[in-house]
Amino acid sequence: MPLVSMRQVLDEAAKGGYGVGAFNVNNMEQIQSIMEAARETQSPVIIQASRGARAYSQDRFLYHLMVAATELYPEIPTVLHLDHGNSPETCKTAIDMGFTSVMMDGSLMPDGKTPSTFEYNVEATKKVVEMAHAKGITVEGEIGCLGGIEDGHGAGVDGLAHLTDPDQAEEFVKQTGLDALAIAIGTSHGAYKFSKKPSGETLKMDVLIEIHRRLPNVHLVMHGSSSVPKELQDIINQYGGKLKPTFGVPVEEIQLGIKNGVRKINVDTDNRLAITGAIRKVFMEKPEEFDPRSYMKPARDAMKKVVAERMTQFGQAGHAKDYAPIPLSTIAQQYAAATVA
Ligand SMILES: [Zn+2]
Repeated sequence: MPLVSMRQVLDEAAKGGYGVGAFNVNNMEQIQSIMEAARETQSPVIIQASRGARAYSQDRFLYHLMVAATELYPEIPTVLHLDHGNSPETCKTAIDMGFTSVMMDGSLMPDGKTPSTFEYNVEATKKVVEMAHAKGITVEGEIGCLGGIEDGHGAGVDGLAHLTDPDQAEEFVKQTGLDALAIAIGTSHGAYKFSKKPSGETLKMDVLIEIHRRLPNVHLVMHGSSSVPKELQDIINQYGGKLKPTFGVPVEEIQLGIKNGVRKINVDTDNRLAITGAIRKVFMEKPEEFDPRSYMKPARDAMKKVVAERMTQFGQAGHAKDYAPIPLSTIAQQYAAATVA
């Protein structure tokens, strides 16, 4: 099947009461890891590329790898999503390339660093919604600012500096008509999220629950939601790495989020850790190896294991064949009809 609408995947997830992992990719091996995990667990899946990933791989390479994925895994509903688009122009280049979903992150100015105003955010997001929905493409927006920096994107602030205000979230959804909303509840991008296991003081699940109460039909998105498991940190450090101790978002908190309207969960760091640990292990144990496959293959297997585990924990496992994907042209007509009504 061709790449599918993220809106449809999230609507189905809402009906089934589960969440869908959105995993970042930069290269072929990461795409293969995710697709193998999706097949093994029979999961619909969201694969996303940031601006950094598009620059690293030249996104025509990424796009064609994704087309190959849909050909090789025809039974898996697969979304190609732009992570943290910094302007309507960037979103347009992704839509023109064939992405089936885009994030317009208007919580920051186009420099990807400076927190913006509410008015700017509404205007930029609305523009993308109009452009994307005309083609059946899904739009994710963000209100409040995530902590940290990843791929050069982020205000670099503490995760608690710009939490989402539920009043603003309500107004933002009303004014933009977007499909999915990323909210800031204390999480950060990157490996260093929390200095100890997060509590209600540092991870504001109560804010998430309040936003869901007010916006029960909006698909919520958790960013910076890697769990950063100690086992993966330990493997890196055991084989010569130097990671400082850190804590991610516990899976049980994500599961609580899923019970309260979270439908998309962004995971990148855990996969980076798994890949790096596997490669370091080969380098330390077999210093005579120089065939890239000797370490890329274990790296791919390690990432696949993490992704499959998350798919099971988020509840998307077993749901790949629940529904027939709707063509984007039909989705575009549905958006148009809803706007007229
Ligand atoms: Zn993010």
